[in-house]
Amino acid sequence: MKSLFTALSLLWFCLTPSFLPPADPADVVFVNGNVYTVNEKQPRAEAIAVKGDRIVFVGSNANAKQFQGRGTRVIDLHGETVVPGMTDAHYHFIGVGQREMNLNLEGITNLEDFLAKVKERVDRTKPEEWVTGRGWIETFWKPPVFPTRWDLDKISPNNPVFLTRADGHGAVANSAALKIGGVTKESKDPFGGQILRDKQTGEPVGMLLDNAQGFVSRHIPAPTQAEIQQAIILANKRSIELGLTQIQDPGGSYRDVDLYKKLYGEGKLKLRIYKAVYGPGPEAKRLLSEGPIIEAFGNRFNLRTIKVVSDGALGSRGAALLAPYSDTPDSSGFLRVKEEDLLPMLKEALQKGIQVETHAIGDYANRFILDEYEKALNAVPKSERKIAEPRWRDEHSQIVNPIDIPRFAKLGVIPSMQASHAIGDLHFAPSRLGMKRLEGAYAWQSFIKSGVIVPGGSDAPVERGEPMIEFYAAVARKDIRGFSGEGWHPEEKVTREQALKMLTIWPAHAAFEENVRGSIEVGKLADLTILSADIMRIPEMEILKTHCVMTVIGGEIVY
Ligand SMILES: [Zn+2]
Ligand SMILES: [Zn+2]
Repeated sequence: MKSLFTALSLLWFCLTPSFLPPADPADVVFVNGNVYTVNEKQPRAEAIAVKGDRIVFVGSNANAKQFQGRGTRVIDLHGETVVPGMTDAHYHFIGVGQREMNLNLEGITNLEDFLAKVKERVDRTKPEEWVTGRGWIETFWKPPVFPTRWDLDKISPNNPVFLTRADGHGAVANSAALKIGGVTKESKDPFGGQILRDKQTGEPVGMLLDNAQGFVSRHIPAPTQAEIQQAIILANKRSIELGLTQIQDPGGSYRDVDLYKKLYGEGKLKLRIYKAVYGPGPEAKRLLSEGPIIEAFGNRFNLRTIKVVSDGALGSRGAALLAPYSDTPDSSGFLRVKEEDLLPMLKEALQKGIQVETHAIGDYANRFILDEYEKALNAVPKSERKIAEPRWRDEHSQIVNPIDIPRFAKLGVIPSMQASHAIGDLHFAPSRLGMKRLEGAYAWQSFIKSGVIVPGGSDAPVERGEPMIEFYAAVARKDIRGFSGEGWHPEEKVTREQALKMLTIWPAHAAFEENVRGSIEVGKLADLTILSADIMRIPEMEILKTHCVMTVIGGEIVY
């Protein structure tokens, strides 16, 4: 009986294609793929058919045949792994392009090499012209301390120098630059920023945190339109080569928006961008009055979000903490936004259906922003909101007091997190925070268990901005050499299925796009990332060696 049943079902399986009505031929059919769909109803497949910019079939090689007509291009994937087109939920797009163009100080492991690299640039620069760069981080220097103005003065006594730390929340300036910025012993710290000073003399040491960077940075000639356009084109190329099909760009201005629109119009920008503009302030006001841009340029461009920055970063001790830093007992960091500016904007955003996302690193900043969101949500009931569930986001949700974690699900706030921050910060977070506060730090699994989704991003150019690093960091919770310190809460790592969702369906949901993107399903946009290895099965360390072999956006093979 059993064998008869098997024989019959085998027969049925073989005959199935011819029983199905012939379908409209597809433009492209991908066959022999190792497909992970992120669709719970049909998790695995071999073949995908695409017509126009949409997926018209997902299933077996045999059943895909009905979509192969005369003009159909058939692509044999030879068993390669296919996942839904990956998204980076926090990716400073223009910054990524500028990193490719400017003095890049990433990966330098000591002060001498740092100074040598800067000197090389100073020597090639005309007298009195600015030397700017980005990407240094002192974590592995011995000792791990910030460079000073006096270090830089030795290699650049005349040219003003301004070098941004990798996290973008601090920069070191030499004496010539501080002079142009008018930064002296007498200068007061601005709101939301700090001038680091010599403990004995009170003299500024050259490090400027967060809003204090503005003293100097406002004197640096702004990049030209042509330079920004070049940065966008470089960032587009780099991103799609890494397998990204959308990036969510947290912050910026209408200047960026206009350039994106121009380049989409000219067909030079292929990547999908989910854009935000900064607020409170004039950019946010404009978005609130003009209204959102949704699904423009073939679903490639959305602008419906205001980005708020509520504190600084942990590495530079600007993150706002409930209790002082363990390694600097006279500092608890600082907030960078005031309630009187924020709350009216939040209420208006609810009335007008505008999403808000807020950078919050420290446990105080996270509690503050949850409180502000809660006040606005209570003040504007669902009946008065344009969108009842506004899907507001908390960018980073990095150090959260455990009692605040359940509030995210309760308020409907989405923690948008960066796995790679945890594997970079593990080298200094314990000394900044002490062991106790690590309990609610980078607590991905606690968040997921509390009933929220966790979109994953890299915060590039703060981190490299490579989806395979993010995927590895989320599942391993170890640095790229396989190291993780004592007490680094390995229970907070995620499964591979969860990590894949962090880079696909969860960012889609956080962008109101779960019905059109984020999984490989009939009717959705044909965004696919094809990888050199099966990241759902290979040993952890091999994830870092995996690369993208093909990127498909809206049915078009863009890489
Ligand atoms: Zn941030
Ligand atoms: Zn950021």
